Amino acid sequence: MIKAGFYVGEKIAVLGLGRTGLTAAASLTAGGAEVVVWDDNSVVRNTAIERDFTLRDLRKDGAFYDIEALIVSPGIAHLYPEPHPVVANALEANVPLDNDIGIFFSTIKTCQFSQFNVPPRVVAVTGSNGKSTTAALIQHILKSAERSCQFGGNIGRGVLDLDLPLDGEVIVLELASYQIDVARLLLPDVAVFTNFSPDHLDRHGGLGGYFAAKGKLFKRGMACCNVIGVDEVEGEFLASQTCESPDDDAVIRIAASKMLRRPGWSVFIDQGVLVEYRDERPCSSIDLRNIQSLPGNHNHQNACAAFAAARSLHVESDEIEAAFQTFQGLPHRSQRIADVNDVAIVNDSKATNVGSAMKALNAFSNIRWICGGLEKEGGLQDLKGQTKAVKKAYVIGRDADGFAVQLDVETEICRTMDKAVARAFDDAEPGDTILLAPAAASFDQYDNFEQRGEDFVAQVNNHLTRQ
Ligand code: ADP
Repeated sequence: MIKAGFYVGEKIAVLGLGRTGLTAAASLTAGGAEVVVWDDNSVVRNTAIERDFTLRDLRKDGAFYDIEALIVSPGIAHLYPEPHPVVANALEANVPLDNDIGIFFSTIKTCQFSQFNVPPRVVAVTGSNGKSTTAALIQHILKSAERSCQFGGNIGRGVLDLDLPLDGEVIVLELASYQIDVARLLLPDVAVFTNFSPDHLDRHGGLGGYFAAKGKLFKRGMACCNVIGVDEVEGEFLASQTCESPDDDAVIRIAASKMLRRPGWSVFIDQGVLVEYRDERPCSSIDLRNIQSLPGNHNHQNACAAFAAARSLHVESDEIEAAFQTFQGLPHRSQRIADVNDVAIVNDSKATNVGSAMKALNAFSNIRWICGGLEKEGGLQDLKGQTKAVKKAYVIGRDADGFAVQLDVETEICRTMDKAVARAFDDAEPGDTILLAPAAASFDQYDNFEQRGEDFVAQVNNHLTRQ
């Protein structure tokens, strides 16, 4: 655990006592802050009492009279759709908000800076999609190149759960936009923005707020290097706002859908080949077409982002290529779980929205598509015309009928995963891909997308052992 070194001697309130909140409370206490905690759930409050934390009902008038900052846990609305009552109380009392990410940066970058001979460096990855894959890929590249590194943030270990970094160590963080929004200090050495698509808007009061939250990592001159995905106009805008001049090396533009033969430093995809372009000429390239763990243009975009981040940390291009070859991918994201009789089986349970399912549908051919679940706002309209590679859809979910009628491919209503897997196997021919890419949330039948993906893998294994 990293001891918070910033709020020493101050009284700090922590709202939300899940894993992140409890770790923040422990980290602040260990660092010398006086901590009071609150959660609306009485069961969770009892856990905090058992761990000797001091409870204070932060909903009450005057609860913030002696508090210097309120640490807000993930999952608690700080602004939209409306502030949680405790947050509203803090704002009313002029008490600033912060979170574990803010505590982390203020500790690493200010308080404990002097104890390092070679200060640790922090790579922060944000964007709408591909954050986890990109962050995991950066970590894998660094490990393969025998660089000391740790990985955390929104996935895996919480930031304050990480070990105090070693001299020169690189910390790779995946940051969701709401984490960036609340953090009072953000000082990454390398800031990465993968792409932009309008999802999760409710937490940010619309598109503008959502984009502004992501953009906070990229204030001019803040990070030594900014890797910015420019496939969308929002990324173009961010890059142009961050650049000091057209050939500013502190901004590396990356794109999977267009060639970036321009002054400065860029990384792009040309027909499945990653090209690094610098000083107005190509200087290295990697053929991604046969790398199974990075299928499709969207994963090529992630590869560009990870490549650029690693290059900014002086990893050689051939070391990155070797790491791409050994990358296993993350569970539930374009994860190839088996190849049977020339049929590939891919688990993309994290494709919980239409946008990410579309990417998966464009990454494979001859697809037997397992989809359905809790439909997201906006419907399935955008899937129209995107299903050319689909041979047939096997629809799961409580409202499988309502889902199926919106698809422009042959469908079979299966409702449950076991039936969908069995039917897809019955129909599969050599050269096909059985793909779980639901284009829907999982909560109608599962606790989360991980459980849905695990069920898919279990049903595939059941089927294979019965054969
Ligand atoms: P995040 O952490 O941003 O949610 P993940 O790497 O976990 O991103 O991927 C989430 C979903 O989006 C998966 O279905 C994955 O296959 C898909 N995906 C991965 N990379 C991209 C990308 N660059 N653009 C769009 N979708 C992507």
